[in-house]
Amino acid sequence: MVGIVIVSHSKQLALGVQELAAQMVQGNIRLAVAAGIEDDDNPLGTDPIQVYEAIASVFSDDGVLVLMDLGSALMSAEMALEFLDEAQRQQVHLCEAPLVEGAIAAVVAAAAGRNIQQVIAEARGALTAKASQLGVVSGQLAVVETQSIASSEDQTHAEYPTKEIQLIVSNRLGLHARPAAQFVATAARFQAQIRVRNITRNTEFVRGDSINQVAILGVRQGHELAIAATGVDADEALAALQALFASNFGEDRTNFEPPSAVRQEITPETDGELSGIAASPGVAIAPIVRYQPPAITITEYHVEDPEAEWQRLQTAIHTAQQEIQTLFSQATIQIGDAEAAIFDAHLLFLEDPVLLEAARQRIWDFYLNAEAAWQAVVNEVANSYRTLEDSYLQERVDDVVDVGQRVLRLLVGNTHSELHLSQPAILVATDLTPSDTAGLDPSQVLGICTTLGSATSHSAIIARTLGIPAVLGVDAEVVLHLEDGTLMALDGESGKAWVEPEPDILNLLAAKREAWQNAQQQARATAHQLAITRDGRQVSVFANIGSISDVQVAVANGAEGVGLLRTEFLYLDRATAPTEEEQFTVYQAIAQVLERRPLIIRTLDIGGDKPLPYLKIGVREANPFLGWRGIRFCLDSPELFKTQLRAILRASAGHNIKVMLPMIATVSEVRAAKQILAEVKVQLRQAGIPFNEAIAVGIMVEVPAAVAVAERLAAEVDFFSIGTNDLSQYVMASDRTNPRVATLVDGLHPAVLRMVQQTIQAAQTAGIWVGLCGELAADPLATAILVGLGLNELSVNPQAIPMLKVAIAQLSLAEAEAIAASALQQDSATDVRALVQQSRS
Ligand code: PEP
Ligand code: MG
Repeated sequence: MVGIVIVSHSKQLALGVQELAAQMVQGNIRLAVAAGIEDDDNPLGTDPIQVYEAIASVFSDDGVLVLMDLGSALMSAEMALEFLDEAQRQQVHLCEAPLVEGAIAAVVAAAAGRNIQQVIAEARGALTAKASQLGVVSGQLAVVETQSIASSEDQTHAEYPTKEIQLIVSNRLGLHARPAAQFVATAARFQAQIRVRNITRNTEFVRGDSINQVAILGVRQGHELAIAATGVDADEALAALQALFASNFGEDRTNFEPPSAVRQEITPETDGELSGIAASPGVAIAPIVRYQPPAITITEYHVEDPEAEWQRLQTAIHTAQQEIQTLFSQATIQIGDAEAAIFDAHLLFLEDPVLLEAARQRIWDFYLNAEAAWQAVVNEVANSYRTLEDSYLQERVDDVVDVGQRVLRLLVGNTHSELHLSQPAILVATDLTPSDTAGLDPSQVLGICTTLGSATSHSAIIARTLGIPAVLGVDAEVVLHLEDGTLMALDGESGKAWVEPEPDILNLLAAKREAWQNAQQQARATAHQLAITRDGRQVSVFANIGSISDVQVAVANGAEGVGLLRTEFLYLDRATAPTEEEQFTVYQAIAQVLERRPLIIRTLDIGGDKPLPYLKIGVREANPFLGWRGIRFCLDSPELFKTQLRAILRASAGHNIKVMLPMIATVSEVRAAKQILAEVKVQLRQAGIPFNEAIAVGIMVEVPAAVAVAERLAAEVDFFSIGTNDLSQYVMASDRTNPRVATLVDGLHPAVLRMVQQTIQAAQTAGIWVGLCGELAADPLATAILVGLGLNELSVNPQAIPMLKVAIAQLSLAEAEAIAASALQQDSATDVRALVQQSRS
């Protein structure tokens, strides 16, 4: 890969450019900085030796591009070339391109594998997008250069016909920085020449592998693009780009339209009425509780032993990573994979080499204590986000601050103040971090009212997922001085809040809340009917749950049972494993809420994305998803496993409980687990403790090996439940938590669907029932296919149940079977989606 060197008088400026560039290509970067000089009183300047060292550190035969700010930076760079031998000097190019825009364009081109000439052309053309947006003529050179490259490529591809597709951009902010970089990186993976034009804005075609040119298209949400590909792998290239669009570039798919994406401080319109940002719909009327996490005070001081200080910072970061891992696992269970990815981003932040290096340098260069060094670098990062033009990226400041505070808290030894409410309340705060919000209990926190925040902040996204009404950005002067217990009403749809509302407002809001609740109830009322297709096929609709409160929501939403109880929640966020008694109480309580409805309890599926610090698994494995997780860990920890099985068996007395084993890959694992279950049964029998002797045992089919030997496994168990979240990642060899391969982890890919079909066939042949409990079951585009493939049960998050039942009732089995058969014959997940959409129109 072409190396990039940034030469600047200011270290901060250079590091800022480096950080920005790294963000564009998600760290896939070969970039060094040579900036500032070793003079505490006058640190601005450039040093030829530093430039030489920076060049040497990124040098390869692919070449190096050097970008400089001004004046002596050029001289230092020219002098640095003198230190190189002749052959090396030929490969190093000093470039007059603008520092910031040039560096970003160059890094994107380099990351896409383009050669040094193309990288230079990209850097030189870097002002074109800006100039075009501002209506200024510029970048002629770049246009000329890219045209000359294009014409040589035209000849290479002359023998192939051009293929073209048209796509609508659905990202909320269009092809903003990151999606544009993804587009370019994807286009550059193929030999075919990719061109793209914005049909909506009636532009010319531009090169699809140029970040500048793609940026010039000014693509916004809803714009239609034409993408043309010419070359040997044109079809594959178009399919990959189509998949990128279909995955929404890995961005949040929420349809929620924020009324305002900017932070606001708003004054009241009438007495007692406050206007804010409508962040999460719903009405809440309750007394308030103010929440203020303890402030962290930092003192800056000189340290004698920078190495010890650096170690101290690393230990705090490591502990913060463990805390976030736990939060990530809990969030995966409570709010789903997509939203939990917020915390995955927090982890990436703590691994950011640029940030860590900046902190380390501060400690060493200035003999600074860890707290002061850390706070300074976090503030720098937060400020650089604040200055971005892209408002969505600006809002990531909250996440930066959240992670930064977590490490600081650990460094200064502050314990986190947990929020304990004695009665249901509306939470009033300045701001809530994503971590704070993820920990809220919707049955206690009826509403959220903050003075800062925005509708697209991660806290707001989590509030919506949890179903907590929220109004953000209200007048701090008013709400932060209220006494705890003051009555407040808020309407998360209109973004209004009232302090001690007048009776007429209260009546109005109570009526609105009632209407809202009635509408929900109506949907729930039909959700209590069975899901039967128009031609009479019944499909059971169950719920996936991860807590006792979930089961109530599930039943209220029409769940006919629980298809997956993720028992990990009992094991997380604590110092030791839960006792048999604790587990028994929880399982029994959930079964009681379900009455005679089935409850499928999945045994501990820890490891992979759900590590457990006190069991020392998951965290240190090179490939945790391929490691010691699920049944593998349980079989190796018989005492822990037996404790859980005893609790499940005891709860099964008088309740419709089934056991499900996760991550099964082999027949011997099932036999070993059943053997342990049999031993536990003997113990209970001997002790005279009642349990269901005939308790059903099933497995999750989520490992391709299990699909391959499904007919053997079917002979061992009473049921299958297909876990497409894991099955997709293992079939596609793509880590389900890695955003870079997110487009591959797609349950609608025909490869995954064929695995689902094989599993169903094996179950049907053996005469056992088969369900599906991965996220795919809740995808409206998957319903017809899954029903058509012959599943007996679909298990989804409780909120998705009413809509899923409606969708099933609208289908006919014959149509569903035809769609399923055709889906299996498609080439890609995109084609499958198109097929389903077509069948609906
Ligand atoms: C799955 O893998 O599809 C599944 C439901 O289990 P989990 O998401 O808990 O791994
Ligand atoms: Mg799984």
